[in-house]
Amino acid sequence: MKNFIEWLDIDLRGKTSGQTKTKCPHCVHTSKDKSSRDLSVNISKGLANCHRCESVSVRDNIQAETKKEYKLPVQEWRNYTKLSDKLVKYLESRKISQATAIELGWTEELYWQPSKNKKVTNLVFNTFEGDVLVNKKYRSADKKFTQSAGTKSIFYNINSAIGQKELYIVEGEMDVASLYEVGIKNVVSVPNGANDNDDFWINSEKYIKDIEQFVIAVDNDEKGNELKNAIAHRLGRHRCTFIEFEGKDANDDLKSLKLDKTAFNKKRFPVSGTFRISDLYDGVLDLYDNGLPKTIYPKSKYFGNLKDIYSEMLGQLVVATGMPSHGKSTFTDWKVLNLIKDYNFKASWFSPEHSPMSLYHSSLAEKVIGKNFWKQKGNVERMTKDDLDKYHEWANDKIYLTDCDGGQLPTWDWLLDKFKEQMYSFGINIFVIDAFNKVLLPKGNKLEQINIVLTKLTHFAQANNVLIYLVAHPTKMKKSDDGIYDVPTLYDVSGSADFRNQTHCGYTIYRTFATDTTEDCTSFYNMKTKFSFQGEIGAKVDFKYCDINGRYYTEESGLPIHSLIYDKEPEFKLPLGTTAEAFKQQQDDEFDQWHKENIENDEIPF
Ligand SMILES: [Zn+2]
Repeated sequence: MKNFIEWLDIDLRGKTSGQTKTKCPHCVHTSKDKSSRDLSVNISKGLANCHRCESVSVRDNIQAETKKEYKLPVQEWRNYTKLSDKLVKYLESRKISQATAIELGWTEELYWQPSKNKKVTNLVFNTFEGDVLVNKKYRSADKKFTQSAGTKSIFYNINSAIGQKELYIVEGEMDVASLYEVGIKNVVSVPNGANDNDDFWINSEKYIKDIEQFVIAVDNDEKGNELKNAIAHRLGRHRCTFIEFEGKDANDDLKSLKLDKTAFNKKRFPVSGTFRISDLYDGVLDLYDNGLPKTIYPKSKYFGNLKDIYSEMLGQLVVATGMPSHGKSTFTDWKVLNLIKDYNFKASWFSPEHSPMSLYHSSLAEKVIGKNFWKQKGNVERMTKDDLDKYHEWANDKIYLTDCDGGQLPTWDWLLDKFKEQMYSFGINIFVIDAFNKVLLPKGNKLEQINIVLTKLTHFAQANNVLIYLVAHPTKMKKSDDGIYDVPTLYDVSGSADFRNQTHCGYTIYRTFATDTTEDCTSFYNMKTKFSFQGEIGAKVDFKYCDINGRYYTEESGLPIHSLIYDKEPEFKLPLGTTAEAFKQQQDDEFDQWHKENIENDEIPF
């Protein structure tokens, strides 16, 4: 248990913000140099740590703040710090010393274990934030768990993160102690085993936001692997390395005397930079065993054979274009909502064109529930309040809308900062920007600025392994002699040819209005897919529009009035291709040929 310094006892040397170094009230008296400044203080964040005695301080009164929303356990843990011989022996069998147990503030208490329906002796993991006890987790001798109810969810051992540049993240309290045994004390544990949730990330944010490097050291099993990816996703893979234990977790390797090696063998996530084959070998083996990288596409039958002509991958920037009122935003929303459902994704919209936001939710709710928000349409009843509640429940941790404050045009740097925050707090997988011209370009040469923005967006998508949809308007299109507009391509996107050149993927939504003899039709054109296994440039799928709920569907699939929340859809599987086929980039001359044949207006507009 770290010593805790009262914030008011710290001499801030007249400063009121930023960072400073000052004397440590806890250990300066024992130091030979009475003027040595061992306490690093981040005044802005209200955090301090001593490099000499490892004391920490937290400014905000957590007890007062916590009382409002959370319950606190009784603050009397110090009464219980004596450990029985039996418990000490048990810990020793797992190679964890009594000194480490005491240092971590573990206690032994008689407490009710619900699953055993009686009071038993427990090993108790006390979670502290600053010097406040925020949670107690009870572990019985036969590995049954219970914990104090209604408490604040935060990383276990969060105090150890204060002032650190590097932080280990493990999957349990025993693993924290195991790393202590090999000298690693900057280590926290997720509070609930392999379950990821937003709360403890948000509650721990100020302690870990400035950490430069994370080492993810979770269990060596399938759930641990999922957790590893979820953590790296929130923190940004470029800031993360990971440990692969030889046994099932840190404690296993401690027991087999391997932890002093494995805990320091940090591996990198493939992001960018220079790699040896051993850094990438897992990926190569995965290709060998499982075929091509998995592409992403809506699995619902209402999308017909769209997956055959067009699909996307995480890490890609997608430009969606189309003429005003042709449905590019509506189609994109319907597609994204399906991806959320099919892949258990979370999506964030920055969509000032569709404000106010509550009205936007009425349109998203129609697409999710399948009924009209406002009234009965045909045989389909109006969405009920109960339906709306179901939407609320479903969307609450899946759909995020970003507002721009003050009625001013936001800048791209502001937007990307927002995205970074949302990655961390909520683990977003898809960002939708609707539309490009609603974000302010920096002053200067417009072509250059567009190029810079698109570079930043592609970099963000790749570095964070997310999909970004960028909705962009085309320039004014020419009408042909019979009064029909040409299909806009990515070259026609207003402002720059980089919309075609820089992005990974793109599509056009083009509507052919009904005539006396033909029906209304909305076509989805593949305008670019980076790899040949992702689709076929120039190919299209025709859709009908369902005015009950704003969805699109193919003629054969029938009217789409099911609920996305309940209904199961048949899944499709992509056939395996060869590596040569897979990594052949789509040829620009192929595209140009198609462009010439299909599009009359061949000039690149600026
Ligand atoms: Zn000190």
